[in-house]
Amino acid sequence: MNFRTFLLKYGEIGIKGKNRGQFEDALAAQVRHALSQVEGEYEVTKEQGRIYVNVTGPEDRFDADEVMEALKRVFGLVGICPVLKVPVADPEGIVQDAIRFIAQTYGLTPVSLPEDKAGRMAEAEPDQGAISFKVHTRRANKQYPVSSMEMDALVGEKLLNAFPGKMKVDVHHPDLMLYIEIREEVYLYSKIVPGPGGMPVGTNGRAQLLLSGGIDSPVAGWMIAKRGVALDATYFHAPPYTSERAKQKVVDLARLVARYSGPIRLHVVNFTGIQLAIYDRCPHDELTIIMRRYMMKIAEEFARKDGSMGLITGESIGQVASQTIQSLVCTDDAATMPVFRPLIGFDKQDIIDVSVKIGTYDTSIQPFEDCCTIFVAKHPVTKPRLDIIKRSEEKLKDVIDELLEKAVAEAETIRI
Ligand code: ATP
Ligand code: MG
Repeated sequence: MNFRTFLLKYGEIGIKGKNRGQFEDALAAQVRHALSQVEGEYEVTKEQGRIYVNVTGPEDRFDADEVMEALKRVFGLVGICPVLKVPVADPEGIVQDAIRFIAQTYGLTPVSLPEDKAGRMAEAEPDQGAISFKVHTRRANKQYPVSSMEMDALVGEKLLNAFPGKMKVDVHHPDLMLYIEIREEVYLYSKIVPGPGGMPVGTNGRAQLLLSGGIDSPVAGWMIAKRGVALDATYFHAPPYTSERAKQKVVDLARLVARYSGPIRLHVVNFTGIQLAIYDRCPHDELTIIMRRYMMKIAEEFARKDGSMGLITGESIGQVASQTIQSLVCTDDAATMPVFRPLIGFDKQDIIDVSVKIGTYDTSIQPFEDCCTIFVAKHPVTKPRLDIIKRSEEKLKDVIDELLEKAVAEAETIRI
């Protein structure tokens, strides 16, 4: 069945009073954004604490599976229900809708039996493998003449008749719950597809992601966006030491993250001049740390311009020499804004699992060098001391301000 209505369920913890409206507006905006990426025309409505998506365009111009996939990327949603929406009818009319709904959703063929035979069939033993079910009616429209419990019983009985042997009632652990909601119209649904959870992007400010071509930073950005934070990103490359392909890979990764986070401003910074200056003047075992510190400073410039209040990196304790506690202390010192490191306690495999789940892994493992892999020392310091690092940076004193300014001024900003 190509469903034309989707009921969206969201977590309600901590969203009371005024926050609730903001939460719902942000969620509806993100749902609209997600749907703008798929073919078809949609209307997103908020009604009585619920959000619905209605397909308004023609039948052949949308694909319900694509709609589901897009909605599964909207943070804040905990469940997505494909719904059959029908006009309010008398109980027998709703019964017929329920039979049609079950037939189409579960690939069953209904039979129509004369009334006296039907009663006996309903009592017959179910086949092995019969689907157990329970009907749950909600009567939001109290004018409707039949109570919820009467509807449950009526629809239950008629489903048993329509699919003799194929269905059985189980009120405790049913395979399928058939929800019938009688409102201005009648909504029938049985599947609640899990959403990604989290908070709608836009409800928790904005942060600047240091996005490389690796596995970790796209995952880090995704995790922070999941908490409702809008993203922008900074990528450092070092042409001609790094290729156009390496840059394209980061643009591709930003696009993949943006499927969840919404639009991203990606600042592509030419880092070659700074890297060469560090390479020429500073001890080689400190290259990575010093480089990282300048990355933080530049990313913070963009954060300020973009209205962000924090930085995000994909660092995790001990993963490489530049991510020991001592190294993180040195890197952290370069930033004045808070640095969010959502992967800090993750093992590499945990990070890989998330990247596979969110669809960035295959792009991340493409073998194009980013700038850091080219200017790395054979034996980097693993326990850098901040005072020593700062003394090494003194050697850049006469050139660094100009280089930093130039790097920021000449950065290319790509709107993703
Ligand atoms: P990733 O998989 O995210 O590249 P990594 O394991 O390769 O991480 P590092 O290279 O040590 O780790 O980088 C640590 C963090 O520093 C990255 O997660 C990212 O946030 C940032 N970073 C590293 N290189 C770049 C770059 N070229 N441009 C932007 N940010 C970078
Ligand atoms: Mg990297």
